[in-house]
Amino acid sequence: MAAAAPTPGSAAALLPHLFPERKPITPAQIAAGVEAALVVQRRAVTFGKRPFAAVLLGPDNETVLLTHQSIDQVNHAESSLARLAYTHYTKEFLWQCTLVSTWEPCGMCTATIYWAHIGRIIFAGTNDQLYELTGPGNKENFTMDWHTKDFLKGCPQKDVEVIGPLEAEGKIVMEESDKYWSTTRIASL
Ligand SMILES: [Zn+2]
Repeated sequence: MAAAAPTPGSAAALLPHLFPERKPITPAQIAAGVEAALVVQRRAVTFGKRPFAAVLLGPDNETVLLTHQSIDQVNHAESSLARLAYTHYTKEFLWQCTLVSTWEPCGMCTATIYWAHIGRIIFAGTNDQLYELTGPGNKENFTMDWHTKDFLKGCPQKDVEVIGPLEAEGKIVMEESDKYWSTTRIASL
């Protein structure tokens, strides 16, 4: 997808050197990115962590620069990864990078990705799907009701690209994640 001209007066228009062109990502690269995140997620679950994980792809959309699993309920995979990325790389570089998450980033994570100046977010499963798996009153995740795109919609400063949910990859993420959530959700209402 060709980048649209920046909004006049926006950060992207005023400071173009911080917004280098992002290389369009292909479906095969998206699928590979999600699979890389799933590898991290599977391993995290074996350590007793919740099934959330993210990876940072470099400007070539293929090189995995950093990975992160969920640590706990306030140290999520995506925001932890975004903070780590910002300590490693420059804004110019991160604008060309992609954060791929198995699940839709929450408000905290979306905002941290925004502040880290990572130019693209990709996620497989949606928050609505997550709620299906966790159910209500799950002490491991009181799933919120909102969407990543809503947080970034109409932002006048910069246009973080959001790709997701992904139908095929989302199904796989749901199936794999349910192995964990089925053991923690309240069985019946
Ligand atoms: Zn989060």
